[in-house]
Parts: sequence; structure tokens; C-alpha cells
Amino acid sequence: MSLQQIAVIGAGTMGNGIAHVFAQSGFKVNLIDVNAAQLEKAVQTISKNLDRQVAKGTLTEQQKGATLANITTVTDLAAGVKTADLVVEAATENIDLKLKIFRQLDEAAPAAAILATNTSSISITRIAAATKRANKVIGMHFMNPVPVMKLVEIINGYATDKAVTDIIVSLSTQLGKVPCVVNDYPGFIANRILMPMINEAIYSLYEGVAGVEAIDTVMKLGMAHPMGPLQLADFIGLDVCYSILNVLYEGFGNPKYAPCPLLVNMVTAGYLGVKSGEGFYKYTQGSKDLVVSERFK
Ligand code: NAD
Repeated sequence: MSLQQIAVIGAGTMGNGIAHVFAQSGFKVNLIDVNAAQLEKAVQTISKNLDRQVAKGTLTEQQKGATLANITTVTDLAAGVKTADLVVEAATENIDLKLKIFRQLDEAAPAAAILATNTSSISITRIAAATKRANKVIGMHFMNPVPVMKLVEIINGYATDKAVTDIIVSLSTQLGKVPCVVNDYPGFIANRILMPMINEAIYSLYEGVAGVEAIDTVMKLGMAHPMGPLQLADFIGLDVCYSILNVLYEGFGNPKYAPCPLLVNMVTAGYLGVKSGEGFYKYTQGSKDLVVSERFK
């Protein structure tokens, strides 16, 4: 099956990156969002990110132009997926919203189209069950920032056809990514391993074993991680970490995944990391300095 027309649902952080990499690899992309202003912002972000590639010499001005020309923005989901060979859904992480979108996709996309989701934590099998083509539903989990990060975690739902997995594996390679195929259990692989590590780092802080900088430095210099777990949690968003830990906790019924009370307090108080301006570190617009929050000094 040759895939040509791609529809990306959601033009937020992940959707604009996903549209960028498909368009740069020569695919025609319909970028779909309910919010027209978000679509405009996404195209500006893609253009700025392409400029960075041109400045680095990894892309020509002409390739930048061709990439942008491959992207069409659309606000009507049904119209945007009508001729799609593949839909990659990257809308807000909310189970009811995703189930609704997949019901709509099942109605509006061609019967042969593959329906992929970029969800970080929702069961692929559950999303697939909202459609009449569960064998053609698959997880295609890109990492942030999409144009930079090489991994695509490909998640087989319980009913996903092997042929569909093979197509998505080969497509990911075509995008210049490295695909890893995993099965559909809570957190898949990436978050099942990452989130307990982040939670343990927060527990270590909560119990006074070490301070923010010491915890992050041990993991950076001792384990060669490019970012410490507390800084990474701030980057991902503490609300996102909290919600993924709850998916693991409920999905496995095992208290070892319960979010640390300090994380619960921070999320409740609105200290969400980079996006709110403060988490374990304090973020000042325009500054690249990493400053530990006053609360942890
Ligand atoms: P985001 O909030 O930045 O963007 C979501 C977009 O979806 C918004 O622009 C919103 O307007 C749009 N949207 C909402 N309802 C819609 C609908 N019915 N139809 C079309 N568009 C709709 O979110 P994000 O961070 O880009 O995350 C998107 C998905 O990617 C989530 O499932 C998330 O779990 C996953 N993900 C996020 C990251 C990350 O680091 N941000 C990493 C991997 C996976």
C-alpha cells in the first residue's frame, strides 16, 4: 500500500511537528484543528523550525518552500480526512475526545485508511474499539520535539493487523525515524519506564534524600542522561506526568505507580513546570539559565 495523503488531527505541540516531518518527506498533509488560530500558529512554528534547518545547512530554501507547499490547513475534520491514506491523531490527551474523534474518523475517512494515534497513555485497543476497523488502528507515538527526536514508538493494539504494523514501520523509516514496535499495555514502553523514574526522583526530593540540583546532576553525570529527571518532568509538564502515573496505577492496579504526594500538591497548586513558569525550577522568559525554585532551596 502506498501512502500519499496524510491527515494530522490537532495542530498543537505534537501536531505541527508531525505535519512538518511528513511534509518534509514529500507527503501531502492536511493539518486539521478545530481552532483556526492554532492552525495559523502551527504553520508559523513549522516555518520558523524550517528556517533553523536552513540556517544549519541541513535544508535548502527551495526544500523549505516545498515542505510548506505540502501542508494545507483545514478546520473541518470530515473534509480534511476524506481522501487520507493515513490519519495521525494528535489532539488533546482526553479519552472521551479521542473516542469521539475516532468515531468521526471511522465515518469520514476512506475504508482502507489506517488510523493512528499519537497518544502518550491511552489504550490503543480502547480507541480502536470505538471504530469498525480495529485491525487498522495503531499507535504512532512521536517524541517532542518531533523534527529532532528520532524515536517512533509503534504500538500494536490487540486487534492491529501485522500488515498495518509493517506499513507504519516502513513509513517511520522513510521519515528518517527509528521505529520500535511494542504491545498495548499501560504506558507502553517509553512512559512505563520513564514515569516511575521521574516519580522516584520526586520521592527522593520529598523525603529529603537530596536537593533538586543533586538529584538531576547524579542522573546527568552518573547515567549520561542529557537532562535530569526533575528538569525533564518540568519540560513534559507535571500535570502530564501526574496523569500518566495515574494511568499506570489504575491500569496495573499496583501502588508502586501511585504519584508522589509532592507531585500531587504541585499539580493541584498549578506549579506545572515550564508551561506555568515554575515547577522544580523557575523559568523566566528569554533566559536559558536553570534556576531552582525558591521552594526547594
Ligand atoms: P496540544 O494541547 O499542544 O495540542 C492539541 C491540539 O488539539 C490543540 O491545538 C487543540 O485545538 C486540538 N484539538 C482539540 N480537539 C480537537 C478536535 N476535536 N479536532 C481537531 N483538533 C482538536 O497537545 P500536544 O502536546 O500536541 O499533545 C497531542 C497528543 O500528543 C496527546 O495525545 C499527547 O498525549 C501526545 N503526546 C504529547 C507529547 C508532548 O510532549 N507534548 C509527546 C508525545 C505524545
